[in-house]
Amino acid sequence: MQPKTSTLERWQFSAAVLLPVVLALVITAAAVLGFIFWSTANIDERALERQSAMFEQVIEARRIRLEHELASVAIRDDTVVNTRLMFNVNWVHRNLGRWMHEFFGHDRVVVLDALAQPLYMMEDGVSVEPQAYRRISSPVQQLVNRVRAAVPASIVPGGPPRPVSVSDFAVVEGVPAIVSVMTIVSDTGAVVQPAGTEPLIAAVQFLNDRTASQFNNEYMFEDGHFGLARSVGPERATHPILNAAGRFIAFFDWERDRPGLMMLRQTGPALAAAFAVAAILVFLLLRQLRRSSAALEAGRRHAEHQAAHDRLTGLPNRMSFDVHLARVLTDRQDTGLQLSLLMLDLDRFKQVNDTLGHQAGDELICAVGQRIRAVVGPGVMIARLGGDEFAILAVSRDGCQDVATMATAIIDAIGRSFDLNHFKAHVGVSIGIVNASGGNAEPRELVRKADIALYEAKAGGRNRAVVYEEHMNELLQLQHTIEGELREALLRDDQLSVAFQPLIDQASRKVIGAEALARWHHPKYGQISPARFIPVAENTGLIEALGEFVLRRACELGAGAPGRTIAVNISPTQLRNPRFSVQVFDILHQTGMRPVDLELEITESILLDDEHVSAQNLRTFRAAGIHIALDDFGTGYSSLSYLKRYPVDRIKIDRSFVSQLSEGHVSVAITQAIVTLAHAMEIEVTAEGVETEAQAVILGRLGCNTLQGFLFSGGVAGERITAIFTDKANSPERRRRTKAA
Ligand code: GH3
Ligand code: MG
Repeated sequence: MQPKTSTLERWQFSAAVLLPVVLALVITAAAVLGFIFWSTANIDERALERQSAMFEQVIEARRIRLEHELASVAIRDDTVVNTRLMFNVNWVHRNLGRWMHEFFGHDRVVVLDALAQPLYMMEDGVSVEPQAYRRISSPVQQLVNRVRAAVPASIVPGGPPRPVSVSDFAVVEGVPAIVSVMTIVSDTGAVVQPAGTEPLIAAVQFLNDRTASQFNNEYMFEDGHFGLARSVGPERATHPILNAAGRFIAFFDWERDRPGLMMLRQTGPALAAAFAVAAILVFLLLRQLRRSSAALEAGRRHAEHQAAHDRLTGLPNRMSFDVHLARVLTDRQDTGLQLSLLMLDLDRFKQVNDTLGHQAGDELICAVGQRIRAVVGPGVMIARLGGDEFAILAVSRDGCQDVATMATAIIDAIGRSFDLNHFKAHVGVSIGIVNASGGNAEPRELVRKADIALYEAKAGGRNRAVVYEEHMNELLQLQHTIEGELREALLRDDQLSVAFQPLIDQASRKVIGAEALARWHHPKYGQISPARFIPVAENTGLIEALGEFVLRRACELGAGAPGRTIAVNISPTQLRNPRFSVQVFDILHQTGMRPVDLELEITESILLDDEHVSAQNLRTFRAAGIHIALDDFGTGYSSLSYLKRYPVDRIKIDRSFVSQLSEGHVSVAITQAIVTLAHAMEIEVTAEGVETEAQAVILGRLGCNTLQGFLFSGGVAGERITAIFTDKANSPERRRRTKAA
């Protein structure tokens, strides 16, 4: 699954990772580029310095070379002879002017006499009029003066005159040039001339394009030129040429050698490619990183959700409910809102698991969650606490009213049938409600109270909502006490006993049997009502021991009164026990009671149970001749259709029903209908709780077979009922009892 990233996460990722990495990348790139450009410029600068220094040396060497070239012709006897003693213009032109032009490339050669008057002049290899000297005399004359000035210092007394030469840069005929002037002296000393009277020879070599191209070829200057003006442009370098006096003569400019730039041009594309690859790699890396961190974040959120939610319903679980409750309670103090806690537990949910399977049970739990959500709406917290338990935390301004309405709506919603796996299932729900007000805002205490209210709802018959009241707490405490005391009582034989309430034949008004009823006389609390301790026994599992105790006493009595029906109440818990039938037969066997005299009374809820074991037990009992009576008929589901599935021998119309019987009351018609239907199914009918003669008369007219109630007798001790049984007036005239197939 591709993890989804929210805008906030993307922003956080950008702030925490992307920005610093991109910033670092940009700074690194800028630093590297900066360093490259700096070193490129540095290399180029060094190259320029090197070329400038080289030019300096080259031009200097060229100046010295001009002097040497001049010396090669000026220090010669025949030159002295042909320029001083007998001036021979042809010789001078051939051996000096033209020769120097052709061999050294000198552009101008002038021979001057002792008075510095021109004797000869060569221009570009051609002998011209000596007067042409005027054109170059201005720069040459300065050097002539310097030579003449230097001559006295060169004189060695008694020795031959020594050559004196001077060379310098100058602008000649508007062109930069190297000019050299030298005295013409004898090389052997054979030709004598007084010092200071030597003729002079001057040579001019222009620094023009020809010279520049020699420089370019020999010293690898690129496109070098001499000029009087500085050339402009970043690509060109310029070096000034100064004369001995430090005055500017000319510039040499050339195409700069830029090895740095060249290197940059050559390595630039590779460098850019490397940067691009690095950027792509970083981008991919970051994207991967973001995906990984998004996946990690999604995983963390998923784990967090898993830890806080119920896997089956997706609702918050007990842990997050506890956290939420504590937080809401703290916040509520500021807002003053009313808070109600509802604890829900499905009624008889185990049946769904047992009959339709655990998977159907799971589906039902999910469906229940959805129905609750549909009732309470989106803003209310619903949690599944585990098993078939749910909790609702409702916050409102008018808490009590809202919550009562909500609870009723939930009971209605859950009460509708569920379609599971092609089966229909029915469950109810019991709800305990506690309204947090005043000081009872401690979470654990609140949950405890809601649980107590839930317990009351269950004990009160299930499928209802009960709001917690303070007295329930006391009741619960009492029930805890009862449980402990009952446990104790079951171990002794001086507190529990069995009373027997006579069963009266309606027609003859004679006692035909009795119903065994548990009695408990506590040494401290006195007589404790079965209505109080039986539910406790049911809820704590003590009912099995208590039931066995009552059954055994009843059978002991029944064994001594054959032909009398002894009815014993059986709890659903007992009937669900696969070993129960064995236990009953053991007791019958041990006491010697006839099975046909025993009648087991079951409640309607057992029929609803649809439990395999219960049904099996009932069948076993009936097959052995034991009668089955359906107790409290008319209080619960009261469906005669159940009787088809679980055939019984008798139904007992509940006392609440009987108490309403009076002439003309609708209950007469209903009772009539029940009796008629029962008889049609060959089932006898007993009316419980008959208190008045009028009721007995009506019931007799309606065809009720047996009566039971205070009109005749309450529960009496075993000895008393035995006495009644043996009383002649009550000798059994039992009708043949019908038995269902
Ligand atoms: P009562 O009316 O007294 O509430 O009885 P009940 O049958 O509803 O049973 P009870 O509430 O005492 O117990 C709930 C049962 O739910 C116990 C267990 O077998 C069953 N149960 C617990 N968790 C799950 C679950 O996740 N899925 C299913 N299908 N059943 C569960
Ligand atoms: Mg339940």
